[in-house]
Amino acid sequence: MQYRMKFTTMPKWSMDLILEFISINYSTNKRSKLSIPKLDSPEEFGSWVRKNFPTDLTVTEKDMAAVRELKAALFRLTCAKIAVEPLAEEDCNFLNEQAAMPRLLPALKVNGITWKCPSMSEVLAQIAYLGVRLLGELRQGQIRKCAGENCNIFFYDTTGNGHRRWCSMALCGNRTKVGTYNRRKRGEKAED
Ligand SMILES: [Zn+2]
Repeated sequence: MQYRMKFTTMPKWSMDLILEFISINYSTNKRSKLSIPKLDSPEEFGSWVRKNFPTDLTVTEKDMAAVRELKAALFRLTCAKIAVEPLAEEDCNFLNEQAAMPRLLPALKVNGITWKCPSMSEVLAQIAYLGVRLLGELRQGQIRKCAGENCNIFFYDTTGNGHRRWCSMALCGNRTKVGTYNRRKRGEKAED
């Protein structure tokens, strides 16, 4: 007999984590005075990994090739999901293969929990697994891309009415409002 397993709702922190993973490398918010970490170097990405996963691994330049490949596939899939387009089968297969690899393994101890994380491969498998769940479980309109010019930051809209437009008010919201104000002042047609 076949039956369907009903998944619990994906925790918001893990959705945020995946959106942060795919956003950061593609942020091209050059004119912003606020700096956005690119996380494209082994050092920067390593500190992001150690902050978000129970590991003290060091990331090498060799690891970064696999990181960028996963990031690019998740980026394309998320863009397609937002555009309500069919997901590319090749990217789906790649993500599923990654997600099927051994992930971070928790072990219960008498005094708490420890995590087994022998290499970066487990971290990437964990990210891919969360990516599968994010893309598979979210409904249309729940993930959005910032409306800011040249900003490729994704976010999960928790407003309930789908009204959130910016990655953050400080980063893109205010900048766009200032731009619109200046255009109006000059008598140009506002594009906002
Ligand atoms: Zn933005």
